[in-house]
Amino acid sequence: MIVKDPEFGEVIVRKSPLSRNIKFSISTSGRLQMSVPKITSNFLIKRFLNQNRTTIREKLPLENPDTQRARDYKKKLLAKKAREYLPYRLEYFAKLYGYTYDKCRLTHANTRWGSCSSNKTISLNIGLMQIPEQLRDYVILHELAHLNHMDHSKAFWAEVGLHDKNYKSHNKHLKMFKPGI
Ligand SMILES: [Zn+2]
Repeated sequence: MIVKDPEFGEVIVRKSPLSRNIKFSISTSGRLQMSVPKITSNFLIKRFLNQNRTTIREKLPLENPDTQRARDYKKKLLAKKAREYLPYRLEYFAKLYGYTYDKCRLTHANTRWGSCSSNKTISLNIGLMQIPEQLRDYVILHELAHLNHMDHSKAFWAEVGLHDKNYKSHNKHLKMFKPGI
């Protein structure tokens, strides 16, 4: 649920049966996020927000509503670009090197460029569209190699190395970028 606030913009409210009290944090989109017990009324949510305004302002590096909106827009464009590119690039490499995966999922997590699940779903971060092509390809080849090795063992890296000779420098270079948008 979203509560509009004149100072903080869109505030994400998550009602959870597990939370015992009201907690503030920042969402991946830079918005204020409140987790509240399931039965909390809107009146209480707003009152608590007002009571904690100063603390939130001081403690949480929130973005102003304009920046939030600009970021949403950027994310939307990036997601579109990613949809038109990443699944096809993944398919291309999979066919080229004889891998079989089940699904390609696009994500926008802040911490991971990609992942490969045991049910053979490969997730790729839309932020990959913002980094150099050779690094993007490295991430895809890395995740494909996880189809055969679900760890970062020697055998895993040897397989990555078969398809990307410069994987070591790519892996290092990749650390200069962050997946978050
Ligand atoms: Zn990995």
